[in-house]
Amino acid sequence: MNTVETDIQQAVEDAAAHLYVWALKDIPQDLRDALAAAAETETSVPGQRVLQTILKNVQVAERENNLVCQDTGIAVYYCRVGEHFPLHPARIYQALYEGTMRATVDHPLRSNIVHTLTRENTGPNVGYRVPIVHWDFIADWDGLDVKCVPKGSGSENMSFLKMCVPADGVKGIKTFVLESIVGAGGKPCPPGIVGVGIGGSADYAMHLAKEAIARPVGTRNPDPLVAQLEDELKDLLNETGIGPMGLGGDVTVLQCHIEHADTHMTLNPVAVNYQCWAARRASAHIGADGSVDFDREA
Ligand code: SF4
Repeated sequence: MNTVETDIQQAVEDAAAHLYVWALKDIPQDLRDALAAAAETETSVPGQRVLQTILKNVQVAERENNLVCQDTGIAVYYCRVGEHFPLHPARIYQALYEGTMRATVDHPLRSNIVHTLTRENTGPNVGYRVPIVHWDFIADWDGLDVKCVPKGSGSENMSFLKMCVPADGVKGIKTFVLESIVGAGGKPCPPGIVGVGIGGSADYAMHLAKEAIARPVGTRNPDPLVAQLEDELKDLLNETGIGPMGLGGDVTVLQCHIEHADTHMTLNPVAVNYQCWAARRASAHIGADGSVDFDREA
């Protein structure tokens, strides 16, 4: 039993090491398509120049096998663990930690992580409670899905939470999202994906906003009411004129994604998490036998 666990732990570590670097170098096709579509619609000269530079940057990164942005981010993983997957989450965390560290040392990548008070570097993109791992547990399944989402600081700094009251309604949600993005201006390297989390509690709303930015670009929430709000917000945000990199233009956001949860009758939390144009993500499916399938588009 120990041997099997060790092999699977190694497989998860190897997968994490690959996912972190892969995500940083090779952005998914849905994001490439969204950036190309933005370049087709943008009418402002500075906006067009920014988008052409971004598209060229993506091509150069691919040709030179290099990173799409110098900010290697904070490593965030989303794990879906089947109840019969033969490795305990504590060991999965250990594997993700080791894999992140190995990728950073071997590539090498910039080490971003510091103690939050002393600001001293804590190691190769790892530290106390870093990488950050979100968990979902799935009944009647023996697999593991791992999605790596390295989050750049420019866009992560543009995260906002408001505890609206129920009387604020949907209008309050829209106003807060709009105010947040207008206030952020060019800081989060637009055009990107605006992740919105609504409902739940204060902490859960922010978690949902983060989950929203990790979805394939342009996917719609399965709830038609929420999907309609995604479309409305996307259009509203693109009317702000902030444009690519905040230099003015038609395309301020590529998409608005919303995740929601039911909430207390006296709560109406709204969280915004911005994802810059470099919306990096990479996924792997790991079988109970340690086999690994990498998935570019999940
Ligand atoms: S916000 Fe995004 S594009 Fe801007 S520097 Fe950070 S990772 Fe790079």
